Amino acid sequence: VWVKFLEKFHESTSENVYNAWIKPLIPLEITDTYLKVGAKNNFTKKWLEETYTTVIEGMLASITGTNLQFKIENLDLKTEELPINSAETTPVQTENRSLLPEAVLPPVKNSFTQQDLFEDDIQSNLNPKYIFETFVIGNSNRFAYAAAQAVASNPAKAYNPLFIYGGVGLGKTHLMHAIGNQIKMNDSKMKILYISSEKFTNEIINSIQNKNTDAFRKKYRNIDCLIIDDIQFLKNKEMTQEEFFHTFNTLYEANKQIIISSDRLPREIETLEDRLRSRFESGLLADIQSPDLETRIAILRKKAESENISIPHDVISLVASSIDTNIREIEGAYTKIVAYASLMGSPITIDLAKKILDAMGTSTKNKQITFDDIIQVTSDYFKIKKEEFFTKKRTQNIAYPRQIAMYLCREMADFSYPRIGEFFGGRDHTTVIHAYEKIVKKIKEDPNCEKTITYLVDKLKQ
Ligand code: ADP
Ligand code: MG
Repeated sequence: VWVKFLEKFHESTSENVYNAWIKPLIPLEITDTYLKVGAKNNFTKKWLEETYTTVIEGMLASITGTNLQFKIENLDLKTEELPINSAETTPVQTENRSLLPEAVLPPVKNSFTQQDLFEDDIQSNLNPKYIFETFVIGNSNRFAYAAAQAVASNPAKAYNPLFIYGGVGLGKTHLMHAIGNQIKMNDSKMKILYISSEKFTNEIINSIQNKNTDAFRKKYRNIDCLIIDDIQFLKNKEMTQEEFFHTFNTLYEANKQIIISSDRLPREIETLEDRLRSRFESGLLADIQSPDLETRIAILRKKAESENISIPHDVISLVASSIDTNIREIEGAYTKIVAYASLMGSPITIDLAKKILDAMGTSTKNKQITFDDIIQVTSDYFKIKKEEFFTKKRTQNIAYPRQIAMYLCREMADFSYPRIGEFFGGRDHTTVIHAYEKIVKKIKEDPNCEKTITYLVDKLKQ
């Protein structure tokens, strides 16, 4: 867990923050409920507790599938070298960091002119429906949610830029609006602008064509928080990226919050210039993953509740288990079912839901896979007795099928690690994580293992 955590943190923050604060930590203890690390002095402990606890707990949740509290113990190792502000003052190292904005410089004072005052009425484009209160938190989005909240309560002070990435329909846009809405709530004077990168590109191109880049720059210089959605669509035109680079720097140096989203990591966006890439990587990179079944059910419940509609539990669980990746699609199915029932004046039933899901091309035949299904197909395949799964036996002919079954429980049925541990005769969740990771690795390396898994998955889906 610790190694995975280090990797994830490293991936998500700038080199400076990672080296100064996280790398020196010493992992001390992991239990079912917490992870304890040692810090070399009280200053580090306090700083981490104040700045990073919720974000770190979010990361741990996405790694382990459970909620672990992050505890820090002061080890009082060396008191003489306090890393005061080392995250900010560590000299900018290495090649690609040489382009880093000068984070150490005090914010550049904006000298406002009369004219600027007329540009106060920027449309924020914020959708009032997308707020934190309507966002359901699960292990798949806990990290991004924590980061978003931190930015919302401390714009330009917590993480800048904040880069949210993840697949289609997983809540990136919702979270970004939520940040904007929250900032506006806390301080109505804040000027916030939400814009898609396509629209942004168009504005740039127009201003270049009409030779009024000055007006463009003025408008953007005046913003306190710039939110740019789906940056992967930023046009691969030199002038566009040049102008965006300029906008980014102006805002960043003026200590303004920048929030960006994308369907992938900056380094995976081929059309992005290197200098922009390194800018994006200098803040916090927060990912959103596909929601587990529990979260999908919670999202549907919340939606029904907010609209005062009562939907039988079996309908909710059918919809949530039939569509497992995209929340937008889940909502689409829900809306169709509700609309159809209300149009026909009929109650919302499982049969109605099935019909609509089938019409949408979502096979409801993949019903929820149970623990028993998994034990059944795995024991059949390996020709071992079901009871063997629950014993303490560690011989290879039992241990391997058991690990496969644990993997399937996680992958096919979405059970949490602790729950899988319970199923298998009260094993610790770390054992389950270990088994899961071992199989993930083996699938990549061993074609036989891959074949086995493919066969079992097919069998389970039938
Ligand atoms: P993305 O921008 O990642 O493609 P969106 O933010 O547009 O996804 O989300 C798609 C839909 O799913 C939106 O209606 C949004 O409100 C909803 N949604 C996504 N994640 C959640 C969540 N965690 N809780 C509640 N609704 C969510
Ligand atoms: Mg979006």
